[in-house]
Amino acid sequence: MSRVVVLGGGESGVGSAVLAKAKGFDVFLSDMGNISEKYAAMLQEWDIPFEQGKHSEELILNADEVIKSPGIPSTAPMVKKIVEGGINVISEIEFAGRYDSAKKVCITGSNGKTTTTSLIYHLLKNAGLNVGLGGNIGKSYAYQVATEHHDIYVLELSSFQLDNVYDFKADIAIITNITPDHLDRYDYKMENYVKSKFRITRNMSSDDCFIFCSDDEITIKHLDQIVMKAQKLPFTQKEEVSQGAFVQGDRMIVRYKEEECDMYLQELALGGRHNVYNSMAAAIAAKVMDIDNKAIREGLATFEAVEHRLEKVLSIRDVLYINDSKATNVDSAWYALECQTRPVVWIVGGTDKGNDYSSLIPLAQEKVKAMICMGLDNTKFHESFGGVVSEIHDVTSAEDAVKLASELAESGDVVLLSPCCASFDLFKNYEDRGRQFKEAVRRL
Ligand code: ADP
Repeated sequence: MSRVVVLGGGESGVGSAVLAKAKGFDVFLSDMGNISEKYAAMLQEWDIPFEQGKHSEELILNADEVIKSPGIPSTAPMVKKIVEGGINVISEIEFAGRYDSAKKVCITGSNGKTTTTSLIYHLLKNAGLNVGLGGNIGKSYAYQVATEHHDIYVLELSSFQLDNVYDFKADIAIITNITPDHLDRYDYKMENYVKSKFRITRNMSSDDCFIFCSDDEITIKHLDQIVMKAQKLPFTQKEEVSQGAFVQGDRMIVRYKEEECDMYLQELALGGRHNVYNSMAAAIAAKVMDIDNKAIREGLATFEAVEHRLEKVLSIRDVLYINDSKATNVDSAWYALECQTRPVVWIVGGTDKGNDYSSLIPLAQEKVKAMICMGLDNTKFHESFGGVVSEIHDVTSAEDAVKLASELAESGDVVLLSPCCASFDLFKNYEDRGRQFKEAVRRL
């Protein structure tokens, strides 16, 4: 019996282990850190042996194949040893793809993945299709392949999840946009990061579709350098296209084959220019999947915002509090500021991933009346915005940030948590940061 070893005991790793077990492999799971009770219980339920707090070489280096969770970098000592031992290292997506014949709509990009993925799922589900949602969102893809049956999967794929795919093929692949992020995992080389995103188009043929933002220079530049067999369907806010989606006046228009679907931007459930992009990408995918225009319009008009993405929390004394905790990089915060029409008290800060804040300076100058830096090291914000925003304060908790914001904000203002940074210095993750922010607002 072939031996499969899974590294990492989170959603992705445990899902992979369950699928491997269901397919009859001799499975072992190993995690350097702690495995949560929920996942330990699942492993026990499936009778899968595992270890935590260590990697035992004798139990790992005898594998025929290793499935590496996306959170583990390829530079981790154990991964290096596995590769040196000549053992094949794959990702959960690669593994699950082998056992799944469903149609796959796959979404990657630096920003807008979760929103676009959720939109597409919403459109397909509303149209009555048997569709599963997975990848970086909700239940892992592998777990669903092991335990459920779907005709279609809509999968959000991070670049880490794409790093170890080889034979996996999407039927529809979407890259929402590409801006510098996670460069620490790519030798600080943008080119490596771009290539990793484009792995989503591997193995695609002329029957498949590639949906991308033609306003995104990095995407276009790379696309010019490669051979793409899939049909290219761009979305843009800058020009008319004969196939794909574009904006004309106050409407968005989708063209696919001989058909056209249009919709007033005002009717889109999600506000902001970035969400026009996300809605266009989703609408093209839906059109390719043969969803009728009425269902697309209805779906895009009724979608409810995903938590932590420009989520309106409360309005108190005419100050609107917005939770955009998921804005963990500069570009997403750019869009959050861009769509604000009222003076902003802006809460930023966290773990810096090598950020360059210069693109935010004009928006900060125009819209931000005060900044509150919520992080352990705020030096870079002070250096970048010192002469730009008149007031910059430091805090070390969501509670203090919200209290101070409520003092600085006047009637008609917005308090926007859109941090540009990861959350790991003060919070468990961005959800924890967003929830603490919302709780503090509710206590005001
Ligand atoms: P991801 O899953 O790629 O991190 P999300 O949909 O969760 O993307 O959104 C993350 C952040 O990026 C949010 O703050 C959101 O407002 C912003 N955002 C969403 N879509 C886009 C886009 N197309 N371009 C730029 N920023 C975006």
